[in-house]
Amino acid sequence: MSIKSLVNEHILNLIPYSSARDDFSGEADIYLDANESWYEGQIKANRYPDPRASLLRRKIEEVLSLPYKNTLIGNGSDEIIDLMIRIFCKPGEDRIMIMRPTYGAYRVFADINNVETISLLENSDLTLDEESIIEAIERYRPKIVFICSPNNPTGKSVPLSLIRRIAESNKGITAVDEAYSDFAPAFESAVTLLEENERVVVIRTLSKAWALAGARVGILVASEEIIALFDKAKAPYNVSILAQRAAFEALSDRENIERAKEETLKEKRLLEKELGELEYVKEVIAGDANFVLLRVDDAKRLYNYLSSKGIIVRSRDSEPHLKGCLRITVGSKIENRALMGALSEYKA
Ligand SMILES: *Cc1c(COP(=O)(O)O)cnc(C)c1O
Repeated sequence: MSIKSLVNEHILNLIPYSSARDDFSGEADIYLDANESWYEGQIKANRYPDPRASLLRRKIEEVLSLPYKNTLIGNGSDEIIDLMIRIFCKPGEDRIMIMRPTYGAYRVFADINNVETISLLENSDLTLDEESIIEAIERYRPKIVFICSPNNPTGKSVPLSLIRRIAESNKGITAVDEAYSDFAPAFESAVTLLEENERVVVIRTLSKAWALAGARVGILVASEEIIALFDKAKAPYNVSILAQRAAFEALSDRENIERAKEETLKEKRLLEKELGELEYVKEVIAGDANFVLLRVDDAKRLYNYLSSKGIIVRSRDSEPHLKGCLRITVGSKIENRALMGALSEYKA
């Protein structure tokens, strides 16, 4: 199955917007081609951003070892997920597939685009069931299968061998969301599958370990052919000059980022241990991300108690297999001590 045959025809035939920066891509002294202000202002954002984010992508190649020609920058991963659905799925006709519980955005972006979501259930131990996934792929022929690894909100990483088998049987796109991969020990990225299977794409983000949630920088890793499709379909100036600069700086600050990540992981281990010692905690679900998932009898009551103490966590109580579960992001040392202080005083 060629990529072309998976793409919406109107996207294949699309004549993309040609920006001033597309019409002239060399180096010049004087730019009078985009109706920008000559006045630099306080933050030097008077010029339109580079539509291809070239400097940032070079930096990404250097720091994250993701080849320049295989990356595209999105306004967060959210934009990449939305674009993917718009490029590959016909509204009212095509389907995406997810395995629940998982990140809610896949279904929401499918809904926005009037694309049906086939939701499969994970095993009760929150692993993926190969047989039932492959069977459902054959039955429903989804255009995109989303696999989140490590998964939000379970923290479970999906073995690369399983992703490979799913991607082989899936004739559509297999999109692997690796938002939390930086936190996973000895993580095996699905980026290595790109060479053997052109229908595999990987989504990364600088929102978590790279401390840039506020800047909105997501990274698509895919074949050159797929990158070209996204490049055509995205808004020309989708990532602001401020976000591109911030991302470049964050990637140049690797040592500090690494240190913060190590501290997060150390704090996570401590939290897991302490939470496990609380009498009313029924289960601490082990995961590979920067959050912990715990199960209690009455998640709503504990949630309300914590919020009355000024501490906000995320209830995942209504997700399948997650009755009684709260997802708690690992915070700073001080924040985590405050959390444990409040939890130790809770009367279940
Ligand atoms: C947080 C998160 C993201 C990041 O989204 P951005 O739009 O890049 O901030 C992506 N996928 C999952 C599963 C997440 O939990």
